[in-house]
Amino acid sequence: MSSWASLLRQLADLDPADFDPAEFSDEQLRETMPLVQVGINRLAAVLTRTVAAAEARQVHRADGMVTMKGWLTGHCRISGRAAGDLVRDGRRLAELPLLAAAFADGAVSPAHVAVVTAAVTPARTVVAAANEIDLATTDAVLTEAARALGPEDTAKAARRWVAGVDPDGALDDAAGLPRMFRMAVSAGGRIYLSGHVDQVGGETMHTALEALMNADRPVGDLRTYGERMGAALVELARRALMSGELPTVRGAAAQVRVSIDWMALCAERAAPGVVGGELPFAGPITPETARRLACDAGVVRVLTGPAGLPIDVGREQRTASAAIRRGIEFRDGHCVFAGCTAPAAWCDVHHVVHWAHGGPTSCDNGALLCERHHTAVHEGGFRIARETGTAVWHTYRPDGSEILSRTPRYPLRL
Ligand SMILES: [Zn+2]
Ligand SMILES: [Zn+2]
Repeated sequence: MSSWASLLRQLADLDPADFDPAEFSDEQLRETMPLVQVGINRLAAVLTRTVAAAEARQVHRADGMVTMKGWLTGHCRISGRAAGDLVRDGRRLAELPLLAAAFADGAVSPAHVAVVTAAVTPARTVVAAANEIDLATTDAVLTEAARALGPEDTAKAARRWVAGVDPDGALDDAAGLPRMFRMAVSAGGRIYLSGHVDQVGGETMHTALEALMNADRPVGDLRTYGERMGAALVELARRALMSGELPTVRGAAAQVRVSIDWMALCAERAAPGVVGGELPFAGPITPETARRLACDAGVVRVLTGPAGLPIDVGREQRTASAAIRRGIEFRDGHCVFAGCTAPAAWCDVHHVVHWAHGGPTSCDNGALLCERHHTAVHEGGFRIARETGTAVWHTYRPDGSEILSRTPRYPLRL
């Protein structure tokens, strides 16, 4: 085995405690960072070459995997996207020897390589050759850019090459572009979205999202465009589920299902780090989120006892009946959170006193809250209270102070 193989073993055996950057001088810190990046680049190049050799020999088949990408995601525990990039880089670097050499000596990073290999596709290479732009020149020009520039500017150089080879974008995979969309759950409970669609598909999505974004624009909304798009995407899905028009799943209506830990639900305040329930796709949720979903969010819930066994299934009694909901909608008109005018159709019926604590499902104990403010109340520590016998609501911050809306809420007159 080469010295590289023994280096990798040594690296695995090193004790992280032997390395304490806090003890470094400022100068040493400045020297260390680029050095480590070069090391990462060189190791990434080794991985890419290893993947290329493994793919050429189809070693994944012995493990019952149809593709190298599938083997990498399973055995190296990397994302499908990262695995796809590795396979593609491995294949294309074989034809870009200068870039491969720059990568191998650590002068360029995996991000540089990815932007070049994504642009220099086999189809474009063929057209380039027909136009007498040879691959060796392409390799030289783009490698020079990658050595001198960051990945973003290298991508620009790659785009200029593409524009020269394929000015009308005819070779863009767009013609036969599959619509692709991925959702990945991170360990921290965030769901990452990625994908691409063709122009018509994108326009369809954008039109629907924009309609929802503009409908949900309260006065003084400070959210960014991206934040509003994200909220609209979730709302689009929520409405589709509520419409009942989606295809059934294994014979049952498509609905969000959640299992909720009964003990966490009943606790006044959960200890930090306690899990309150589980969503089948998105994973464990906090007790506060569990309480909100149990409150009224159009979900099917399974309450589980101490042994994790179901003790109560369904939503019938704890979700406001149509009559109760109509009454609450008539009284509140829209989300009752100070300053919010999200329409009733967007709102959950919140139990002011949670049913797990004996609060009834009634007009008196109900309040319209849009999803954002329902979340603020359950997970954000905000509180709402109604003046007895009126439709006047007050909203309090977690510190107990009242939020006084600049546009006062005029209660609907009965
Ligand atoms: Zn609630
Ligand atoms: Zn609201």
